[in-house]
Amino acid sequence: MIEVQDAAAQLAQIAARATTCTACGLSQTRTTVVFGEGNPQAPLMIVGEGPGEREDLTGRPFVGRAGALLDECLAENGITRRHVYIANVVKCRACIVENGRKRNRAPTLQEIAACNPWLQQQLAIVKPLVVLCLGAPSASLLIHKNFRMTQERGKFFEVPYARYAIAALHPAYILRQGGQAFLEARKTLVQDIEAARLKVIEVRREARKTLF
Ligand code: SF4
Repeated sequence: MIEVQDAAAQLAQIAARATTCTACGLSQTRTTVVFGEGNPQAPLMIVGEGPGEREDLTGRPFVGRAGALLDECLAENGITRRHVYIANVVKCRACIVENGRKRNRAPTLQEIAACNPWLQQQLAIVKPLVVLCLGAPSASLLIHKNFRMTQERGKFFEVPYARYAIAALHPAYILRQGGQAFLEARKTLVQDIEAARLKVIEVRREARKTLF
C-alpha cells in the first residue's frame, strides 16, 4: 500500500511534469496548468470538467463561484477539501479568445483524450473508493461514453479505477439555473455527494468484513 507521503510525492512529481505539457492546443491559451489538489489518498475523488478563469489564474481547481457552491454542498455533508482529492478532465482552461478577451467553452473530445493520461495517473495514485464525476464530460469519460445526465445522474456504476463512480450536476451548470430550478439542482448535488459519502462508508465496512 502506498504511504500518504509517497502518494503526495508522486502526485507532486507528476504535477511538476504537467506544468510544461503541450499535448493539446489548450497549452497555447492557458495561464497555468490546474493539476488538482487535496488528500493524496482520499477515499472520495471529485472530477470536474476543467478550469475556469479564476482557476486558470490561481492554478487551483474549483476556486471560483462554482467552487464556492461545491464547498457549500460538501460542507452540508460534513466534508471539507482535506477529505477529498479534486481534479478535472482537462488541466488547462478551454476558452475562445475574442477581441483579446477569453470566454469559457467546453473542452473538445480530442482535448479530453489528450489530457486523460494525467487523470489516469492521478486515479492510479490516489486509488479512490468512489469517484464523483461533476458534469457530463467527466461522466462520459469515466463512466461510459454515452452517459445521459438526466437519466443516469445519482446512480452508481462499477468502474476499473475505483470501486464505484457516480455523476452529479456540475456546480457551474447549477449556478446558471434561476429560482426554484437552482434550488432543486443544488439539492441534487447535496444528495449525490451524500450518496457518494455513504457508499465510501459501505465499501469500507465490506472490506473490514472480508478481513475477519
Ligand atoms: Fe496538456 Fe491537458 Fe493542458 Fe492539454 S489540457 S496542454 S493535455 S495538461
